[in-house]
Amino acid sequence: MRHRIAVVGSGPAGLTFARVLHRHGYPVAILERDPGPDARPPGGTLDLHEGLGQLALDKAGLLAEYQALSRPEGQAMRILDADGTVLRDWQPRPDDRANPEIDRRQLRDLLIGPLDVQWGRGVTQVVPGTRDGVRVHFADGRQETFDLVVGADGAWSRIRPAVSSVTPV
Ligand SMILES: Cc1cc2nc3c(=O)[nH]c(=O)nc-3n(C[C@H](O)[C@H](O)[C@H](O)COP(=O)(O)OP(=O)(O)OC[C@H]3O[C@@H](n4cnc5c(N)ncnc54)[C@H](O)[C@@H]3O)c2cc1C
Repeated sequence: MRHRIAVVGSGPAGLTFARVLHRHGYPVAILERDPGPDARPPGGTLDLHEGLGQLALDKAGLLAEYQALSRPEGQAMRILDADGTVLRDWQPRPDDRANPEIDRRQLRDLLIGPLDVQWGRGVTQVVPGTRDGVRVHFADGRQETFDLVVGADGAWSRIRPAVSSVTPV
């Protein structure tokens, strides 16, 4: 039997997780509150680090495409104290491509690829442990049940309260 899997949120985390599952043959419902992919400005560029964001893209089978789309930028960095004393000074090698930057829109489009995002599906809460599985409540009053729900809906997650009482500060 196929498990019914939902990912709430189509940010970098939700889409990357969904692509990894898709690569392994698991269908995923991606539930996103925004009414469409260009509902709001995508924000600045992201630099993805070796062994972190790049590792996740590798697991999704997208590392080579990320490397082709991204560019080294702002690789040098200094940390100074209040008096201007240099505490750390990172200078890149001429061929350094450790943390290249990618435009968020390009990263999103790369991640979405074959995935089918359900836009305009804001989640208000989830109720785990019902007889049919995890019940997802939507802002429009509808409800749907899944076997597994993954919260990737950012800092103010509506999923997190189902597993933790911690609130953002
Ligand atoms: C100025 C700035 C610069 C940054 N630079 C970098 C960088 O260079 N490199 C880096 O790795 N990180 C950077 N970050 C951090 C990075 O943006 C976040 O770590 C990343 O966006 C988190 O991804 P996410 O998918 O967990 O959440 P989000 O990006 O917050 O995505 C959450 C998604 O869930 C949706 N959603 C929210 N609530 C609901 C709901 N109730 N129902 C359905 N959908 C919902 C949202 O619409 C959104 O699409 C930066 C952050 C900022 C603010």
